[in-house]
Amino acid sequence: MLDESGLIKAEVERLVPKPLCILLVDDHKFFGDLMGLLLKGEDDLQLHYCATAEQAKKLLETMKPAVILQDLTMPDVDGIDMVRYYKQSAKTAHVPVIVLSAHEKGQVKGDAFDAGANDYMVKVPDKTELLARLRYHATAYMNYLESQLLMRELKRISTLDGLTGIANRRCFNETLSYEWKRSQREKLPVSLLMVDVDYFKNFNDEYGHPSGDECLQRVAKALEVSALRAADLTARYGGEEFALILANTDEIGAMRVAQAVRNSILKLAIPHALSATASVVTVSVGVATVVPEYQADYMQLLKAADQGLYQAKQNGRNQVAKNLILAEDI
Ligand code: GH3
Ligand code: MG
Ligand code: MG
Repeated sequence: MLDESGLIKAEVERLVPKPLCILLVDDHKFFGDLMGLLLKGEDDLQLHYCATAEQAKKLLETMKPAVILQDLTMPDVDGIDMVRYYKQSAKTAHVPVIVLSAHEKGQVKGDAFDAGANDYMVKVPDKTELLARLRYHATAYMNYLESQLLMRELKRISTLDGLTGIANRRCFNETLSYEWKRSQREKLPVSLLMVDVDYFKNFNDEYGHPSGDECLQRVAKALEVSALRAADLTARYGGEEFALILANTDEIGAMRVAQAVRNSILKLAIPHALSATASVVTVSVGVATVVPEYQADYMQLLKAADQGLYQAKQNGRNQVAKNLILAEDI
């Protein structure tokens, strides 16, 4: 269950506090009193009355209503314009608005709905019907907020790698595609680092899979710290392979980050008895930098960084190798 800790439910309750706030905007004070009587004893609902559009707008700066009840005929403003106002303001755009009016004509009701009203009741409403509609709309509003928050959380989770908590392959692909296009537009270099843990199969064999998992978590954290600029992205590319996208970074900058990455893993000093390169866990890093040409796609950069990585492995691991992408390659 996604909302196991109830964080989303708590956030909904922060946005729509209990008892549910019902804001009534109507110039006739006696109608406000009458509505107060109708809602009396309903502990889950709390009526807030205001007589003018100005008051309503001021109140809404801080108030978090579950439902707005809006009169149509008011001396200082047209109720229909108020409905439009609620629907166009970021804070109240999704708050249900019930128009309460003496008008029974279909044309007037149609205008109210066209302006964005969620419901329409003719004055004076029947108590049972009023309570049912208030609760129905408030519940629908809270369900809507909950679904939006769940969706946002799902979106966030879908970009993360389950083991390490850093960006996953999907996020990597999307970011690289985005940065590639941006570099094309702005004619700026983009660099890619492919980082692979050396002799990791041996590490698992020696220390067991759970220790291997823990090692990958520590490596991921160290990599993330190495790429500090806002546009940088550190992702788990798959298995024991990581990728760093360095936007607007030339070859010199990329090589500097690559060396920092290699050093930071070395400094973790995770013992690795079965490595032929060192007594601790090390990584090999492939670096590629390019100013994207319009006809090229980002697979070019991936391939080049991969070739760099292959070279670093061939040269003995625990090192950085770059692969220059020349114009004729693209
Ligand atoms: P090289 O130095 O050439 O990179 O050798 P290597 O052993 O690191 O490379 P190889 O591709 O042969 O092995 C990768 C190993 O990484 C094998 C696999 O079991 C391990 N591995 C991949 N994903 C995970 C994971 O999520 N957890 C753990 N514990 N191990 C993983
Ligand atoms: Mg490896
Ligand atoms: Mg590998």
